[in-house]
Amino acid sequence: TKTLHIIGGGMAGSEAAWQAANAGVPVVIHEMRPTVETFAHRTGHLAEMVCSNSFRSDDDEQNAVGLLHWEMRQANGLIMNTAQAHRLPAGGALAVDRDPFAADVTARIMAHPLITVEYGEINALPPEDQPTIIATGPLTSEGLGGAIAAETGQDALAFFDAIAPIVYHESINMDVAWMQSRYDKGETEEERTAYLNCPMTKDQYEAFIDALLAADKTEFHEGETAGYFDGCLPIEVMAERGRETLRFGPMKPVGLTNQHQPEVKPYAVVQLRRDNKLGTLYNIVGFQTKMKYGAQTAVLKTIPGLEDASFARLGGIHRNTFLNSPTLLDDQMRLKSQPHIRFAGQITGVEGYVESAAMGLLAGRMAAAEILGETLPAVPDTTAMGALLTHITGGAEAKTFQPMNVNFGLFPPVDAKGGRRNRKTRYKIYTDRAKADWAEWLGERESLAAE
Ligand code: FAD
Repeated sequence: TKTLHIIGGGMAGSEAAWQAANAGVPVVIHEMRPTVETFAHRTGHLAEMVCSNSFRSDDDEQNAVGLLHWEMRQANGLIMNTAQAHRLPAGGALAVDRDPFAADVTARIMAHPLITVEYGEINALPPEDQPTIIATGPLTSEGLGGAIAAETGQDALAFFDAIAPIVYHESINMDVAWMQSRYDKGETEEERTAYLNCPMTKDQYEAFIDALLAADKTEFHEGETAGYFDGCLPIEVMAERGRETLRFGPMKPVGLTNQHQPEVKPYAVVQLRRDNKLGTLYNIVGFQTKMKYGAQTAVLKTIPGLEDASFARLGGIHRNTFLNSPTLLDDQMRLKSQPHIRFAGQITGVEGYVESAAMGLLAGRMAAAEILGETLPAVPDTTAMGALLTHITGGAEAKTFQPMNVNFGLFPPVDAKGGRRNRKTRYKIYTDRAKADWAEWLGERESLAAE
């Protein structure tokens, strides 16, 4: 059996190794720490949690990340099983004692008869006869980042994310907002109505600027700031540069007519653009921000039409190496131009410890199946795993692709347009459907292995 090489022993790489080795494939993990450090990691352990010690909500009935926990546990996930053993009391969240957690992941990997860990930085792409998963994360070392960019093209590998908040379409008040592209530009009706617009009066705009200036903001991490200022200024920084800056920038009101009140010219307009093919998610155009989450929600809800908005993810700006996966990766997470290379983890454009480990779990299973000459059935997009995978490998709009957390907006809707059940009922339907489909997918995999 061929050996699978995994570059990077973080959340994704550790999980991928575990899954592939458990399928019977020998694995070598290449990890640069502790020889080469990043600005965020502090130890030499595999699967180190670099910031918060929480894997977020553990609610597998009402929360998409909790559902992802459930799916990973069903698949004998290393990260989830080890987290369980180091759990700290944290209400509904899965928080862990971080150092013993990472030490234990490392020990379990080291003890696996089919896994070897080699320490040292890898700076080049692997040769064609070497099946490899690259899982080097948001802080991929410069040398390897350069090698990847040389293969994908500079534009397809980002070193920063500048995430504008993403809103569930169903939570936007369409009695206030309307669909229209600036100057009705576009060849088709769909293009002419590609944007969702929220109008502001002068008073509303002035109050919004005051709220932005007063809001709590997050500081940058050390080593994080270089180079982000071109083209993606946070909205609060734009507001600091002048009260009118936003009105001449992302909030300019020109070329738009309020369909609810054609005679009233809006003083400023906030535009949202569709973020996925399903049309369930909209991002607020040009609204990348470093406002703290609480302040951010409060300020954004003052935008007319977004009073009751629920957010699939909030905005942020971080150092983050990630691929334009929708254009570069196939549905098996293989690099289309070099299919012996898979990517997994945050570098594929998912965001978060859990999401990264989840994509490691899938990549590990897919790589192992390929080495063993098996064909895995497609991962159902009704599961949290499948919904994320589908999003990064084709469901997301490639032009505006930014890293994504798992959320119910990525799932095929359970209610037809206009249908309305209460949220609790709806989320339960999503999670029930996902659990049934995931169990079936795992079952198919197991019967395949038994053959
Ligand atoms: P990592 O866990 O970072 O693993 C990648 C591994 O590859 C590392 O061990 C690294 O040393 C190694 N590596 C890199 N380059 C090479 C190379 N050339 N050769 C060999 N090895 C290499 N997510 C959350 O859910 N909660 C948070 O609080 C949170 N905070 C974050 C804070 C910061 C500063 C950053 C950068 C990210 C944060 N994230 C957070 C996002 C993300 O979830 C984590 O970074 C997560 O660890 C990503 O998993 P990964 O496996 O993709 O990458």
